[in-house]
Amino acid sequence: MKLNIVTYPNKILRTKLNKIQNFDDPQLKQIIKKMKIAMIKYDGIGLAANQVGLNMRLIIVDMNNGPQAFINPQIKNKSFLKQKFDEGCLSFPGIMGYVSRSKKINLEYQDENGNKKSLAAEKLMATVFQHELDHINGIIFTDKIKKFTHGEDLFKKLQMKAQADEK
Ligand SMILES: [Zn+2]
Repeated sequence: MKLNIVTYPNKILRTKLNKIQNFDDPQLKQIIKKMKIAMIKYDGIGLAANQVGLNMRLIIVDMNNGPQAFINPQIKNKSFLKQKFDEGCLSFPGIMGYVSRSKKINLEYQDENGNKKSLAAEKLMATVFQHELDHINGIIFTDKIKKFTHGEDLFKKLQMKAQADEK
């Protein structure tokens, strides 16, 4: 199985993904390994399963110590205080823009073996986790862009194509 990056307006990017229940499935470890490789290859800092066409609540994030898998992640707390980053996304090549998100978050998740864990993230990492959490809930970052910095016209064109495909 080879993983390819799914780009907008593919419908799986609008799908709320299913919880992972079976941690004994050897395929899960294979998928995680391949997603990590894909993320390195495409030079990303975060990647959600639907971005490679898979329906499962799994994200890969590189918190500066190499890519790591976060399974069934949930944000438990987020700060009132917001920050803005100029965000991009592997599923939206050439499109970037400022998105406002919480500056600090607390995350609960399971690791590759199903163990429950939690972590706190702030600044860029807080934004990355919120961006990836949105993905697994079928929310795309362009929904939240306040000001495009790249590719606004390209995005509008793709959006029109998506609407035409709906009909
Ligand atoms: Zn993304």
